[in-house]
Amino acid sequence: MSDTIIQFRNVSKHFGPLKVLDEVDLEIHKGEVVVLVGPSGSGKSTLLRCINGLEQITGGDLIVNGMSVLGGNKIMREIRQEAGMVFQQFNLFPQMTALQNVAFGPQQVRGLSRSEARALAKELLAKVGLAEKANHEPAELSGGQQQRVAIARALAIKPKVMLFDEPTSALDPELKQEVLNVMRNLAAEGMTMVVVTHEMGFAKQVGTRLIFMEHGKIAVDGTPRDVIDNPPNDRMKDFLQHV
Ligand code: ADP
Ligand code: MG
Repeated sequence: MSDTIIQFRNVSKHFGPLKVLDEVDLEIHKGEVVVLVGPSGSGKSTLLRCINGLEQITGGDLIVNGMSVLGGNKIMREIRQEAGMVFQQFNLFPQMTALQNVAFGPQQVRGLSRSEARALAKELLAKVGLAEKANHEPAELSGGQQQRVAIARALAIKPKVMLFDEPTSALDPELKQEVLNVMRNLAAEGMTMVVVTHEMGFAKQVGTRLIFMEHGKIAVDGTPRDVIDNPPNDRMKDFLQHV
């Protein structure tokens, strides 16, 4: 299909003898918001990390925006520019201001001038509600604010898809919402997103698709409301009772 943006073709990933992704087939289309859930160790982070080359697949093929991750270093660099990633632990550059954190990528990766990158960074900080924090360093920001800077930073490279790995898991409950709201707005603008999260409310409201992973395989793939309200197997039912 022409609007396919990510395609896993029989993808496996081993760490030594450990099989972490087990012949995964998955097609994600433009504009989808795919929520990925599953027990700890089921391969969710690894699946995300394979998309932007933080991990290398060991079997099958993975196509991102028409390019194979097996296509070599130059292609992989291009793929990385199409996939923005947001981590549980924010991972901001601690010695840089919020503005510098956001402006860094577009200068390095997209070849923008310093002033162009700063203008873009200001625009993106405003978009995540942090215009007035532009000159603050991460240590001066709350966890929720740091994560919003991290989202702005990922957006700054103009990715085609955004990957979120438990973006609110390190945050106090009252700070989770401000991050989820930014993600909700992004989804409403049509951004393609793959989100590992335990926030089932978000999954139901914002997700267009929910995938339950188990032992490196996709065990359930359906509409969030359907599969959350009516888990199709006992393991997923059990999982949902514990999140
Ligand atoms: P999840 O995000 O669903 O909790 P992960 O994708 O992080 O799962 O991990 C899946 C499995 O792969 C786990 O058993 C984990 O210990 C293992 N694993 C992840 N990264 C590595 C690595 N770099 N080296 C060896 N094993 C790893
Ligand atoms: Mg994980």
